[in-house]
Amino acid sequence: MTEPTNSATETATPGTAGSTIHEGGCLCGIVRFTVQGAPVRADWCHCRECQRSSGSAAIPWGAWPVESFRISEGQHHLSCFSSTYRGQRHFCRECGATLHMTDPTDERGTVGVPLTALDDPSVARPTCHSWVSERVPWAQATDDLPAYEKDMPE
Ligand SMILES: [Zn+2]
Ligand SMILES: [Zn+2]
Repeated sequence: MTEPTNSATETATPGTAGSTIHEGGCLCGIVRFTVQGAPVRADWCHCRECQRSSGSAAIPWGAWPVESFRISEGQHHLSCFSSTYRGQRHFCRECGATLHMTDPTDERGTVGVPLTALDDPSVARPTCHSWVSERVPWAQATDDLPAYEKDMPE
């Protein structure tokens, strides 16, 4: 028997399970994006940067492999703010909506996308809370998900 060759029909690899394309976009609709398959991880991030950039108590981030994420419309309406040395927050210049976050120091090669920016936010759900050391006192979780003081473990 020979080893299976690179078959176009067998594309399921860890982290890219499923080939369903999920669409999403900003508030005004000028910027549109797609992600493919399920996120490799998803968390509620309670850090102060997420709070200040979104106006919310936490952001439900899904992490997708960079190659699974694509801006499909409105690329030139995007702006980027580097909130920390590793957090580059991309947002729509027209409506201010928080879109994806990239991290130049991330060797795992993922891009963060707010699950709430997806047209159907129910396609994935956060599995933990991160940065609870900065969580707002009146925004305590009512679920039993694991909580981490800072970043979730690798
Ligand atoms: Zn917009
Ligand atoms: Zn955060």
